[in-house]
Parts: sequence; structure tokens; C-alpha cells
Amino acid sequence: MRASRLHIVTLREDPADAEIASHRLLLRAGFMYKSGAGLYVYGPLLQRVIDAIRRIVAEEISAAGGLEITMPILQEQSLWERSGRWAAYQATRTMLTTTDRGGTTFGLAPTAEEVVTDYARAQVSSHKQLPVCYFQQHTKFRDEIRPRFGLMRVKEFIMMDAYSFHADEECLVDYYQTMKAAYHRIFQRCGLESYAVEADSGAIGGTGSHEFMVAADVGEDAILFGEDSGYAANVETARTHLAPAPSWSAPQALALVDTPNAGSIEAVVTYLQTQGYADVHPAHLCKMVLLMADSDAQPVSVAVAIRGDRQINEVKVLNALTRALGADAPVIAALRPMQEAEVRQASGARPGFAGPLAGLQVDVLLVDEQLPLDAPLICGANSDDQHQLGVIWQRDVTLPYHRADVLLAEDGDPDPNGKGILRQRRGIEVGHIFQLGTKYSSALGAQFNGADGKLHTMTMGCYGIGTSRLAAAAIEQYHDERGMRWPLAIAPYHCVVVPAKGRDAACVETAEQLMQDLRAAGVDAILDDRDCGPGVKFKDWELIGIPLTVVCGRGLADGLVEVKHRHDGRSEDVPLDTVVEQLAQEVRAATALA
Ligand code: ATP
Ligand code: MG
Repeated sequence: MRASRLHIVTLREDPADAEIASHRLLLRAGFMYKSGAGLYVYGPLLQRVIDAIRRIVAEEISAAGGLEITMPILQEQSLWERSGRWAAYQATRTMLTTTDRGGTTFGLAPTAEEVVTDYARAQVSSHKQLPVCYFQQHTKFRDEIRPRFGLMRVKEFIMMDAYSFHADEECLVDYYQTMKAAYHRIFQRCGLESYAVEADSGAIGGTGSHEFMVAADVGEDAILFGEDSGYAANVETARTHLAPAPSWSAPQALALVDTPNAGSIEAVVTYLQTQGYADVHPAHLCKMVLLMADSDAQPVSVAVAIRGDRQINEVKVLNALTRALGADAPVIAALRPMQEAEVRQASGARPGFAGPLAGLQVDVLLVDEQLPLDAPLICGANSDDQHQLGVIWQRDVTLPYHRADVLLAEDGDPDPNGKGILRQRRGIEVGHIFQLGTKYSSALGAQFNGADGKLHTMTMGCYGIGTSRLAAAAIEQYHDERGMRWPLAIAPYHCVVVPAKGRDAACVETAEQLMQDLRAAGVDAILDDRDCGPGVKFKDWELIGIPLTVVCGRGLADGLVEVKHRHDGRSEDVPLDTVVEQLAQEVRAATALA
């Protein structure tokens, strides 16, 4: 392979709108070209990286029992209606759609549960065929609100999606562990440091979902870690166990007090402290967060009661709300704060004075698990400029409510397992595994004949890896001011051979021979035969991030070449007659099946 035929086009300047390293470097090094918002042409170098990742992913998922298939990108609306997800994806506008000449409407695959479940239904009839796992690495489409960060969040990307089918829950839980181990091996083989964290598993709840994260400051996900317990969870789902608020000088009976203009937690606390309640703390307040859930039907009004010193977690609220609304719930597109008029209607007061006592009118009242029901609280009185003191929920509140964990856990909070505290770091989600249960199989009638001779519904798991996002995550993890630093296993080439004296026939000939010998020994080498100075060449290869550079230069007179390691900047003189074996060994060690 010759660099002169690779059309290497590198930019000296950083592209204007690229905010993060991977975005910047992929454009600068000519790995990709922006074809539209959230749409990229993968150039030949990026293609090689993607191919390397795909190979590793396919090997490991196959080793875990996966069968590779290809499913259509065009998915009929009628199929998605059978699972009930057409409406949900329309409501959130996540799915791109198209219509054919006959008027049939399709969604462009954002994921493939419906298609694969329908396939499994047709393929599997007996328990003897289970478990089975199908996977593909194919293009996915999502109408992201904000495509950004280059390959990280695009409208069209490559995903490995796998779906497993089981005779029972136990088999699924078992297989889930197998897949989790396969994921660890995949990221390890790609040279990445990744970790699994508990993830939001929607309204179903439970611990049946993990995300795989690559640590990076630019990551869009916040992760909370238990420093001492090994607990790790996406902030969307992370739990904590707060110390109870200390007791305060609450009145024995309910006391209605004027709190002029005190419409915020801080204002109420400050005001009450001047009124003889010196020991009042924000944790003694019951904060009422008033929300509207816009849906495909009537909007749903929601009040969330939470300790005054804490924030709600919107993902948890949405899940709790969906559970509270039950089976016939409308599809909720989004939660938003109530507008002033809506607050007046729900509480009879202007914003800042809502509470759980008489006067509150909402469709659903959610109460955070850590708001005490047996300790005195300070609540809005549902009238302007007034609060109720000494409210004991279980004694005073008559409205129906749903108790749920809706609290946003934060850096420094106690570990939910009672050991130490939680610390927050940021991560890039590269994969997600999920115990689905029977949601899709029951909707689409995926049944099998059991050993007992009766019909049963298949139990499912699903597993995704953002193949293209993984390439960007690798750059975030490995780059410096000069460019990318690819791990050997997923680098576009393992090695570049640079004849330092490009016009010296003997030097060029040696380099050419070396490139061929390296390739024969399993080192994916390229010869930089371009007609430019060595300085330009080195700069380009540093930017492109090829792990190994072999320079054929002055040392040749003594039978030596220079080997440079991009990863740690190390450089050494190596005898020409052993360099092939040395590099082949390095490549074998880094790319061997772990
Ligand atoms: P995110 O929270 O980042 O939007 P998701 O929860 O929507 O991700 P999944 O539906 O679990 O993602 O998809 C599986 C994998 O596909 C993700 O772990 C991620 O690596 C990748 N992925 C998801 N959306 C995109 C996107 N818009 N661009 C690139 N990769 C994506
Ligand atoms: Mg998403």
C-alpha cells in the first residue's frame, strides 16, 4: 500500500465549528467530510477504522453465540403499530419516515426490535431452538434534536444491534452476563478503557440494564461512582440514601403563616429564620415541582413533591409518571414546567406557593421516597404569600399520591449501599445492554412450544454498540496536541514506513522492501512514497495517529532504522534485519484475542 494513492488531505487549521477533539481531528486529518448536518462521508482512513471495529465486534458477538443477519432499514409502520411504538416515536419525533409510491409509510430503522421479533416468531417454534441471538451491524437513523460533536451524535450511524430470545427469564439473565462479558472483551480488544454502569431501564424499572462508558470529560453522560462500594450508575438512574434532616422547632399543629414574597426555598428559609424559626433548613421544606406532560392526548398535570434542598430527576419522574398512569397511559412526548397560568390553575396561587394540602389540583401527585411522611414539613399553602408549617404528610395530606424515587443524585451524596460517598465523572456511552422481558414478544406474538407441550411467550434481551461512535470515543481517549493516537487494534494502518531521503533510490528501495516484508509478517504497513519532505510526512502521520513509524534514514549505512511509537513518543534504533519480527510481535500482542 502506497500513501501516494491514498489521497491524504490534511488541514492545517482547526475546522470552525468542531468543539471536541475527535470532531476536530477527524475533519482535520481528512477521515471524514461533512455532507450535511449530522451526516458524514467516511473517507478511506475512517473506513478502515470502522472495519477493524466491526471485525472485533462481529468476532466477539459471534463467540457469544450471536448469528449475524441483515435486516431492512425500511420498517413498515404497521409493524411498529403492533408494538405500540409508532405513536411513541412520532410523539418524540425520533424516527425519520418515508412513503413509497403505493402509499405505504415506513420508519427508517432507529432500532430493530419489531423486525427481529417478527423474524424470531417465524423462525422459532420449539423450545429446542432456544436460546437464539441475532445481530447485525447496519445503518441506523435518528432525528436527533441536536446532532453534534462529529461522529458522536449523528442522524445516520452504524450500530451493532443484537437481540436474544429465551424460553425463560433465568436463561435471559444468564445470557445477559455472557453478553456483558463479550462487551468487556470488545472494548478491551479495541484498546479502550471502559466500564459498565447501571442504566435507566425506562418505566419497567429494575436493574436489567447497563451502559458501557468510555471515560472522557466531553462525554454527554454523567456517571456517579461509589468510591468504596464499586457502585456505578448513570445519573439518570443513580440512587442515593440521604441522611434525614435534623429536627426543627416545628409547631405541634398545622400553622398557616404569611411568607410575603417568599416564593423560593431560600426566601422561605431566610424569612422564617427571622420569624423565630432559627433552625429551619431547606431540607425541612416540601418543594412542589409543577409540570405538564404533553402527550398525544390531553396534557397531564403533575406535581412532584421533593425535599426542599434537592432537585428532581426528570428521567425518573417520567418513568414514575408512566407507571402511575398505568397501561392505558397516553404517550408522553416531554415534560415541561407549568406556565404561570397553569400553576394558578393547579394550585390557586402564583408560582412558589403550591403545597400538598387542600387546593392542589393535578392529575398525578408524585412524592419522592426521601421526603419524610412522618416528620413536620413546611409546605406552600396554595394561596399567595402563605405557607403551612408543621405539615405531617401521613396525618394531614388526603390527596392520593404515588411514592417513587425521583431524586437527582449528585456528586458528594452518600453511596446508596451505605459505604462512603458518590463521585461524578463524565463518560461517552458506547454500548447499552437491556433485559427486555416480553414487551415485544407478547405484542408481536413470538411464541414457542415449551417442553410442557404448551405455548409460551419468548423472553428477550437487546444489546447495542455504537460502532461509529466508538471510533470517536477512541480518539477522545487517545489524542494529544499533535493529533490522534490510535490503539493498534483499530488503527487505519499499524505502521507507516517513511523513506527519509525520498530521492535516494537505495533508501526508497529499502523502505519499499520493508513495507512488503512487514505486510507479509502480518503488520498492516503503508509506504509513504509521497513527493514531499520528511517533516511534512511526520506531521501528517502524527495527526493521522498511526501507532508505528519506521524511518529509513541515515542509520541505514549502519544497518539501522528508527522505530517511533506514537502512543508514548518513544523512539529507538532497530537493526534492519530484526525490525520486521519485532513489529510483528508488537502487533500480535496488541491484537491477539484476549
Ligand atoms: P444516547 O443516550 O447517547 O442518545 P441511546 O440511549 O439513544 O444513546 P441506544 O438506543 O441504546 O442509544 O443505542 C445503542 C448505541 O448506539 C448507543 O450506546 C450509542 O453508542 C449509539 N448511538 C445512539 N445514538 C447515536 C447517534 N445519534 N449517533 C451515534 N451513535 C449513537
Ligand atoms: Mg438517543
